[in-house]
Amino acid sequence: MAGPVVSAPSSELVLAVDIGGTKTSAALADRDDVLLRTETAPTRAAEGPAAVVSTVVGLARRLLDGSPARLSGVGIGAAGVVNAVTGTIVSATDTFADWPGTPVARLVREALGELLSPGAPVVVQNDVDAHAEGEHRHGAAAGADSVLVVAVGTGVGAGLILDGRAVRGAHHVAGEIAHLPTPGAEHLRCPCGRTGHLEAIGSGIGLHAHFRWLGGDPLIVDARGVAAAAAHGDPIARRALGDSAAAVGRALAGAATIFDPERIVITGGVPKIGDAWWLPMRRAFAADAIDALQPTPILPGVLGDDAPLRGAAASAWRAL
Ligand SMILES: [Zn+2]
Repeated sequence: MAGPVVSAPSSELVLAVDIGGTKTSAALADRDDVLLRTETAPTRAAEGPAAVVSTVVGLARRLLDGSPARLSGVGIGAAGVVNAVTGTIVSATDTFADWPGTPVARLVREALGELLSPGAPVVVQNDVDAHAEGEHRHGAAAGADSVLVVAVGTGVGAGLILDGRAVRGAHHVAGEIAHLPTPGAEHLRCPCGRTGHLEAIGSGIGLHAHFRWLGGDPLIVDARGVAAAAAHGDPIARRALGDSAAAVGRALAGAATIFDPERIVITGGVPKIGDAWWLPMRRAFAADAIDALQPTPILPGVLGDDAPLRGAAASAWRAL
């Protein structure tokens, strides 16, 4: 990652930022959202908004490394429900202290100061929405008019693009299938406090919780352990994994009925379990989706950790 990439002061660059629960990544990106250089630091979410913003500024300084180039814009994907019009956090999990209400766009603009070109936009959106924008511009959904991107990891997140545009909704949660009521999850509590939602069984934490509810080995402490046990033939682990994946497939069939996306793209750590996850997920989708929706491609994301950064870069250029 070392070495100057900012060749001339006239190079047009944006700063792309991905603020996640555990780490914050930042990159300099060119006009095509190509990441020229990336830096990462722990998020310090528990220390409050000022610490989170100061991490972003520290990463920007490291990336520019004394270069005279100034940033043409900044695009940020941030954890939580985000008002993308004002760049303010609407709500978030407890991981982030005092995060709801934080005017991230304004704070980052003020803190970056002279690193920004005059009038440079600072735009903020939800991190999975940024991920969706990345996969839509440059990844598994490139060329599609519409796509539902679902991240299945520790939690479940989603981003929705219809007619080429990100859909946010009246309350900034359009497409957020994590909290769809999902048959088979009634016995599990969702992080939102309710029971029976997709995230309660379909996330990595949900998969493990369901495994324990079925009477699975208490020495297995996470989804990775459940997947490994399933691979070794543990019947409870296999059942939990099948149920968890099927819940996702069922929810996707419901979401497809409402939005009818051209493609569905799945990202995150849980799908990396492989066929033991994808096959029951696809089977459940095929069982529930009406005939017209059966051909909807359900594809793995291709950009990985670059997706939210490339999407954030695209959002900055779009705001210029
Ligand atoms: Zn919920």
